[in-house]
Amino acid sequence: MKYDHILIRYGELALKGKNRSQFEKQLQDNIKIALKGHDNLKIQRTYGRMFIELNGEPHEEVVEKLQHVFGIHSFSLAIKVSNELDTIKEGALKGLLEANPNAKTFKVSAKRAFKNFPIGSQDLNQHVGGYILANTENITVDVHNPDVEVKVEVREVFTYITCAVYRGAGGLPVGSGGKVMLMLSGGIDSPVAGYLAMKRGVKIEAIHFHSPPYTNERAKQKVEDLVRILTKFGGKIKLHIVPFTNIQLAIHQGVPSNYEITIMRRIMMRISEQLAANNNALAIATGESLGQVASQTLSSMNTINEVTNLPIIRPLVTMDKLEVIDIAQKIGTYETSILPYEDCCTIFLPQAPKTKPNRAHANKYEQNLDIEQLIAETIENTETVMFKPHENLEKTMEDLF
Ligand code: ATP
Ligand code: MG
Repeated sequence: MKYDHILIRYGELALKGKNRSQFEKQLQDNIKIALKGHDNLKIQRTYGRMFIELNGEPHEEVVEKLQHVFGIHSFSLAIKVSNELDTIKEGALKGLLEANPNAKTFKVSAKRAFKNFPIGSQDLNQHVGGYILANTENITVDVHNPDVEVKVEVREVFTYITCAVYRGAGGLPVGSGGKVMLMLSGGIDSPVAGYLAMKRGVKIEAIHFHSPPYTNERAKQKVEDLVRILTKFGGKIKLHIVPFTNIQLAIHQGVPSNYEITIMRRIMMRISEQLAANNNALAIATGESLGQVASQTLSSMNTINEVTNLPIIRPLVTMDKLEVIDIAQKIGTYETSILPYEDCCTIFLPQAPKTKPNRAHANKYEQNLDIEQLIAETIENTETVMFKPHENLEKTMEDLF
């Protein structure tokens, strides 16, 4: 008898009926993808819980990977025993000792999810607690602050004993909430925005605007690496690489310099909107945070937003830079984001961008450009690459030096 299972709990399930089973199915699929390569594992779903049978695989790596799967509220290593009082008692004792051999106090929390089991939760607590006390020394019951809480969950076919709880990533299973196009620069913010959007259950496709030869291969490679990191949380992710040089040159020639960024962003939005339509996405996500830079004042957002009716999801809108950096470090994108390669937006950065651009001026200056034609050509030349989880991260920046 040992910890040979993982019991997975999911929160936020006020969902009912069909929604619930779709949600559970999506979560199960995502768990399978995250654990690909661990061929011995068996994943089972019962109403309200999922179980992974380890079949001899060590749990450490599985635990690490499960912590990245959105939709999991918490999970525990579990011992599976038959629904008989004696085996339940033995399992509980084993579970306690394996979880913490030095525990001084414990508590038993029994739950009878299977109501036909003849012993009620309270009685089960007494039986199991008494057995543990009788078979150990120097260990007592503490119901308020025990070193180990031994949970006994009696289900229809088996009983599961768990002693420690790992926190899951929370949120909703990626894919349960439709698709969003993420505007992904190589900076710190947009990968975090993508992570947070995925946390709420949406699948993302990334769009990156690059401007060769003003931006080089390394800048592109950096974005690809960021997408690879995000696949850890979101499964497969498509990256659309949009060649932006012609548009930037046209803007540079045709628009007063203090409106260049505004017009550039408006065109990025239009292109993103079309790529969203082509790929069945219902919204655009960005890494914008209110007031962070000139292009992110309320006037800028207002002027840029004029060109699209799609919802724009800005998960970072109220965050401070330091809060964003914290998340970037936690999810592992920070080190890649701070590599120093030029972004297409910084190349043509004017000395004094307008902090309060308005719609009327933007519209007027756009008359100088053949926007439709430029956009059509650009979309025509956009390349799409698919990234899958588990593709090794070896081919990274290092290779290019
Ligand atoms: P980030 O850290 O994400 O680069 P930022 O603080 O540098 O953001 P801006 O340069 O104003 O801010 O960009 C705002 C948002 O516009 C970015 O978060 C991103 O969503 C989008 N964006 C900017 N540049 C690009 C690009 N080259 N390709 C795709 N999206 C971009
Ligand atoms: Mg940036």
